Amino acid sequence: MPEDLDPFDIAVKQLKKAADVMKLDKQTFEMLSHPMAILQVSIPVRMDNGETKVFTGFRVHYNNARGPVKGGIRFHPDETLSTVKALAAWMTWKTAITNLPLGGAKGGVICDPKSMSQGELERLSRGYVRAVADFIGPEIDIPAPDVYTTPQIMAWMMDEYETIVRHSAPGVITGKPLESWGSLGRGDATAKGGMYVLREAAKTMNMDLSKAKIAIQGFGNAGQFALKLVTEMFHSKVVAVSDTKGGIYSENGLDYQKLMDHKKKTGTVQNFPGTKNISNEELLELDVDVLIPAAIENQLRSDNANKIKAKIILELANGPTTPDADEIFFKKKILVLPDFLANSGGVTVSYFEWVQNQAGYYWTEKEVYERLDQKMTEATHAVLDAAKKYNVDPRTAAYTVSVKRVADAMKARGWV
Ligand code: GLU
Repeated sequence: MPEDLDPFDIAVKQLKKAADVMKLDKQTFEMLSHPMAILQVSIPVRMDNGETKVFTGFRVHYNNARGPVKGGIRFHPDETLSTVKALAAWMTWKTAITNLPLGGAKGGVICDPKSMSQGELERLSRGYVRAVADFIGPEIDIPAPDVYTTPQIMAWMMDEYETIVRHSAPGVITGKPLESWGSLGRGDATAKGGMYVLREAAKTMNMDLSKAKIAIQGFGNAGQFALKLVTEMFHSKVVAVSDTKGGIYSENGLDYQKLMDHKKKTGTVQNFPGTKNISNEELLELDVDVLIPAAIENQLRSDNANKIKAKIILELANGPTTPDADEIFFKKKILVLPDFLANSGGVTVSYFEWVQNQAGYYWTEKEVYERLDQKMTEATHAVLDAAKKYNVDPRTAAYTVSVKRVADAMKARGWV
């Protein structure tokens, strides 16, 4: 039978595995395997050629037992409701793993932002907020950036929301630019949080990161900063990176600034002087110590998992590994640092941004990073300890930690 790659099926399967391990009661499992609310909207947008195009958008509230729901908005041509539901479920586990007083949500719009002008993107962003305005708010649901959505888009969305409610409400959305009351340290927070997780995990494996070879799949916000930070913080050698067009390999390691300039000029990392072009598949199978998937879902599957040579997989992407691949990695003793732990630095600094917005008082960059480090370090050890306690892979272990927190909150409220 071919592997089931439906994202929400995968999310429920992962939850079930943990529920069995921790002997979760049936009704709590039932509640946690469904989103609490789903909104689908049609957004008319005047395109530059004068025609109106109608875009489909979604916003899913997964669970709000621990507080207002939170999660990004993706602009992606392959967006589906199943993907948004899965991502909303993962946000619920993600906010719980660093113990934030928040639940999980996600949004998405089916569109191809690469083929849209800035004006079209602005009108789509504002249209999305008009369509979901009753469903979001600083004490209800707080969106943020995700795949192909940027700080600029967050600023337009905040502006549209404030225009609708007729008062200032910077806490309605996070990942904003600094001049629109974003937080210092939010730009590289996802990658930075991942670095703290990697540092702690490497310690427990006695891996010397200064001698490690690393490959990074994906060159968006998380992938770019991962390249910069592993080099700066650990002096590791990043031998390969890729984007949607393909990858590059260099035994000598890649220079962050030069590669950024090249990508800006040519639109891709490929054909970077001194490197060899490789495919995305080849990148995943390289002989490296650490593999960092930082693109999209379902990249590591039953058909390629046996070919992976890395010792650690740091999932900066959401959902890059399928359940079948997880089983193979566990057998091969490859340590998978699961997405909702590894990339939770993004939402953690988003939470800090929201706290600052609600208080109207702003922190220094040093304060942000110190608090992030503390949150990530605690979460990593909670997960690695649970993996030992139950003798399970770190993803299942992370589920047991997060699910217990959400289940306890539901119990206290009298829901189950
Ligand atoms: N979209 C990011 C994620 O998947 C960040 C969410 C947020 O900051 O709320 O974690």
